[in-house]
Amino acid sequence: MRIDLITAFPDSCRSPLDTSIVGRARRRGLVDIRCNDPRAWAGGWHRKVDDRPFGGGPGMVMMAEPIAGCLDFVLAQSPAPLLLMTSPQGRRLDQAWARELATREHLVVLCGHYEGIDERIVELYGPQLFSIGDYVLTGGELAALVLCDAVVRLLPGALGNADSAVSDSFSGNGPAFDHPCYTRPREFRGLPVPETLISGDHADIEKKRSHQRQERSAQREDSAQS
Ligand code: SAH
Repeated sequence: MRIDLITAFPDSCRSPLDTSIVGRARRRGLVDIRCNDPRAWAGGWHRKVDDRPFGGGPGMVMMAEPIAGCLDFVLAQSPAPLLLMTSPQGRRLDQAWARELATREHLVVLCGHYEGIDERIVELYGPQLFSIGDYVLTGGELAALVLCDAVVRLLPGALGNADSAVSDSFSGNGPAFDHPCYTRPREFRGLPVPETLISGDHADIEKKRSHQRQERSAQREDSAQS
């Protein structure tokens, strides 16, 4: 799989993309993630990518021209790229959508910043807008990184143990939430690990975990309703 981020702030993306499971997936060649800076397509001495909004108002708007240049370059690099754009007004990213995105060959994720991107980019390129929640960020980079993380961990071979993605919350196999987990030591600040988990009785362990998953999911439904 290939993922291209279009961002005027590539530095803010480096560490999350180089670290842990996403970094390992890249090093193993499961995913090729690249950051493309529209500044490279900006004219003038200062390589400006933002300007004041027509019609007045606060803040700056990302200019269409550098973004279009960058998009034309990136979109031409594969036969069927899927173009996404970060926006608080977009469709909410969820696990089912992440699963769908993980089957694509090439994702291109356009990151807005400041007040957003010149609307003509939306008119010309028709990106799918996605949001990571009902709050406003300073830029789309964090949202794009959330999408990369959620998608990359679903790629075959990305997780150490393929079963982890199966029992995860929202994975669609049984109740919505995963069971709680414990590791050494057996007792921490007076709290022991549940007896069943150290019994070695795998049927019993699965029974307990399944019960906990159902309980947690029901609790969440209750709190969502109240
Ligand atoms: N004026 C815009 C918000 C701009 S925030 C509005 O009210 O709709 C600046 C940029 O951050 C956006 O263009 C978008 O790319 C990104 N962004 C902000 N909040 C986001 C969210 N919840 N999900 C995804 N991207 C977001």
